[in-house]
Parts: sequence; C-alpha cells; structure tokens
Amino acid sequence: MKITIDGREYEAQKGNSILQVCRILDIDIPTLCYDERLEPHSACRLCLVEVEGMKNLVTSCSTKIRDNMIIHTNSSKVVEARKDVLNLLISNHPMECLNCEKSGACKLQDYAYEYGLVDGEYSGDKRKANIDNSNHFYSYDPKKCILCGLCVRVCNELQCTNAIGFENRGFDTIVATPFNEGLENSTCVSCGNCVSICPVGALTPKPLEKYRHWETKKVRTTCSYCGVGCQLDLIVKDNKVLGAQPAIGGPNEGLLCVKGKFAYKFINHKDRLKTPLIKKDGKFVQATWDEAYRLIRNKTKKIKNESGPDAFAGLTSARCTNEENYLFQKFFRAVIGTNNVDHCARL
Ligand code: SF4
Ligand code: SF4
Ligand code: SF4
Repeated sequence: MKITIDGREYEAQKGNSILQVCRILDIDIPTLCYDERLEPHSACRLCLVEVEGMKNLVTSCSTKIRDNMIIHTNSSKVVEARKDVLNLLISNHPMECLNCEKSGACKLQDYAYEYGLVDGEYSGDKRKANIDNSNHFYSYDPKKCILCGLCVRVCNELQCTNAIGFENRGFDTIVATPFNEGLENSTCVSCGNCVSICPVGALTPKPLEKYRHWETKKVRTTCSYCGVGCQLDLIVKDNKVLGAQPAIGGPNEGLLCVKGKFAYKFINHKDRLKTPLIKKDGKFVQATWDEAYRLIRNKTKKIKNESGPDAFAGLTSARCTNEENYLFQKFFRAVIGTNNVDHCARL
C-alpha cells in the first residue's frame, strides 16, 4: 500500500497498524501500553496520530493502514493531545523520581521530560492504596500505577497464568494480585514477567541493594538454570549482579521464569566456590584447574585400564546448555568408550 507519513511517501504492508509501520520505518511514536507481543489495548492514548479525512485523532496502535492514507505523527494537534494525556497521567501520579527505583529507566519520566511537563495541572483524588510488599521478589505500588494493563496482559496472554487483573473503579483501580488474598490461594508463580514489562515504577523487584540505572551496564547472557536457554540481560554495577531483565528474541521472547528473573543472587554470594576443591586427608582443599584436570585424567585412565569403559556412567544436568550436553555425551561415547550416559530429565 502507498501511504504518506509526515510528508514522505512509503510502501507499506497491508494489515499492519500505523504504529507497526512507523516502528519499521524508525518513526518515533510514544507509547506506554503497547508491546508488539500483545494485542493492542489503546489504553494510554499516547500513540495518537492525525489522519487526513478523519475528524478525531486516532490511536496508531489499533488503526490499520489504508491505501493512500496521509498520516501526521508530529503535528501541533498531535503534540498538544499527547501533552494532555501526559498531564492527566502525572496529575494522578506521585512524582517521586528522586527516590524511585525506576528513575532513569521509566517511560513516564522520559516522556514528561521530552514533552516538557513538570507537574500535572489537573486536581482531583489521588490513588490511596498502600504499597503491597507481600510477594517475596517484588513490590507493587498502586500510586505509581498508570493502569496501562501491560502486566495483566503479559500474565494472561503470554505467561498464561491469569494470576492478576484490575480491581475497583476510577481512582481506586488497582492491579489485583491474588497473593493479596493469601499466597496459598494464588496462581501467581512469581515469574516476574509483570515486573519486567511495567513501564514505570509501579511493579519493581526488591533490590539486593540500592542502585541507579545509569550506574549499571547490561550484560547479555544465557540463563544457566535449564536447557531452554533463555536470553537475558544481567544488570551489573561494579562487577556485581543486581538484577535480570529478559531479552526480546531467543527462545524466550522477553519472558523468564522465576529462576531466570530473580535467582541470580548466587553469582555474588560469599559461599560460592571459585576454585575446584580436592579432597585430601578427608578434607576439601582449594586446587587449581590444572591440578583438578590432572586428577580426573589420572583416575579416569586408571579405572578404564583396570575395569574397562563400562565401569563408568555419566549423568548430566538440565542446567547445562544443549551444546554442553552434546559435548558430555560425546566425551563419554568417544573418549571413555561407553554408552552409559544419561540426563537428569529422565531420572
Ligand atoms: S514511576 Fe517514573 S515518573 Fe513515577 S516516580 Fe518513578 S521514575 Fe518518576
Ligand atoms: S503495574 Fe505497571 S504494568 Fe501494571 S498496569 Fe500498572 S503501570 Fe501498567
Ligand atoms: S530456568 Fe527459566 S529463565 Fe532459565 S532458561 Fe529455564 S525457563 Fe528460561
């Protein structure tokens, strides 16, 4: 289809929304409730654009392109409407950026800065509900919740746990987390995908220690807990892992389970083994890798010579990657010479 965006003509694929086409073309449209993995929701109204021939502005996330459509993404009418939307949002939002864990990684903060808003001009009731700290891994602050619905939709549409939904109406609306009613009644599996997707500081992980996002770097890695091989970004400050964020792409497409999301504290734990240990006189003592490999090689050779290759059995782990498991069986079959090899998944 032929469409015109901000005065330039483009060819675009039929069936796409205006927002999808703009993302492909690298044309910036702000969003707070949109995620390409989820059905469009049109809740935040920030993605409004002007379409010639249409009386009202339309939400670009839910409006499909038509042939010869003429779209304006940045006209003064559009900018004023976005400012109004942001104004309404921050009028009902405690601007606590100075002390908010999300500061520096918050989309509302970024847009308020981009559109030059300091404080909301509308007065009215503010949300009153208290912070919910009942989950072991994360907190929910209803006062900072902008009701974008991303957490509810990721839980329902992608995680398929259906553990949360909206409760109450108007200023009293909150994301109802069944763990409020007691963990024993909840279907929540603490995967934290709601936390990962929250664009503001409403759902935040309970931090290991305080940090600011701009002090950290992200290190892309593979989760070491199971063979799915989820991709994630570790949030690292001074060589210490302080959080984990799922990566879009890979086998997990922006999702993690509770282990990948929250169980990273072993990495910097003081009890973690950093060298091999060899038992000497009934006690484990620290050794170098060279010493450990020499011991393994010598013992393996001795047992193989004395009792043959079938004296060995190898059991590998779901915490290894596919490639590691492949190498393990290859080592047992080709180097040791036995088919006695299995995997903990069959235990
Ligand atoms: S959620 Fe965002 S805008 Fe709100 S206080 Fe935190 S950083 Fe500021
Ligand atoms: S908790 Fe976060 S993701 Fe969920 S509705 Fe509120 S702002 Fe959106
Ligand atoms: S343990 Fe969870 S996060 Fe890690 S790879 Fe497996 S499914 Fe993914």
